[in-house]
Amino acid sequence: MSSEYEWTFPLGQDWNDELPAGPALYIVATPIGNLEDITIRALRILNGVDLILSEDTRKSSRLLQRYGITSQQKSFRVHQIHADVAFALQQLKANLRIAMISDAGTPGISDPGSHLVRAVRAEIPDCPIVPIPGPSALGAALSVCGWQTNPATFLGFLPRKPGKMKTALSAGPPDGVLVIYESVHRIRKTLEFIRIEMPGRPILIGRELTKLHEQWILWSTEEALPDFTEKGEFVILVGPARSSSENQDSDTETSAN
Ligand code: SAM
Repeated sequence: MSSEYEWTFPLGQDWNDELPAGPALYIVATPIGNLEDITIRALRILNGVDLILSEDTRKSSRLLQRYGITSQQKSFRVHQIHADVAFALQQLKANLRIAMISDAGTPGISDPGSHLVRAVRAEIPDCPIVPIPGPSALGAALSVCGWQTNPATFLGFLPRKPGKMKTALSAGPPDGVLVIYESVHRIRKTLEFIRIEMPGRPILIGRELTKLHEQWILWSTEEALPDFTEKGEFVILVGPARSSSENQDSDTETSAN
């Protein structure tokens, strides 16, 4: 199936510029911790839409209050996804402008955002779906790893069963980077699994990115698990098996061409 679409959206100049008439679905990136990490465009969109769908309205209220945004909010939750998608479709069909935000970062990256995008694309193909880019734990972690980031394979949360976990970890080439999201409950177990399954790989662990207790740990799967505070949110990067200096030429070539 192929389709092509182009929507014309006037570039906003001013905080008070009206958004184009609906329907429209804006997929708006919000901070992964530090409330200052939000774009001016994101604030303008959140301020101008008819409805904000958020995973957790209490969490997003902190952000909206900080910037004086009073647009109406409604929750969009993974455990009642069918009802929430149906509600959003109904609102778009009534010509509303909706912004979707997730608990943290860019909606659609390991959160329910993609369900809504898929449904809108299938059911209201003429409705513009507009990304408003910004933070994500994925981009933040890759930006400071210092390894060549192509190819990078985003695995998100690993499956829980060991067999499936092993298959997931074999997804990328050995000279590439793997990006894994993990919760505090499973971080130690996951790192131990990676240590056994992926010998000879450098690992960068990012904890609580952009927050007060941000921490980075560089480690190698040849060594025992490092000491770290088991609190907060984690991103794990598995680095290339080859030495990164071997890879640098191709990185420079890419950016120079
Ligand atoms: N949509 C988000 C994004 O753009 O990165 C990710 C949502 S996913 C449900 C949440 C996971 O992202 C966390 O369990 C953690 O692995 C990672 N994450 C989110 N914020 C983070 C932070 N401040 N520091 C480290 N990891 C974070």
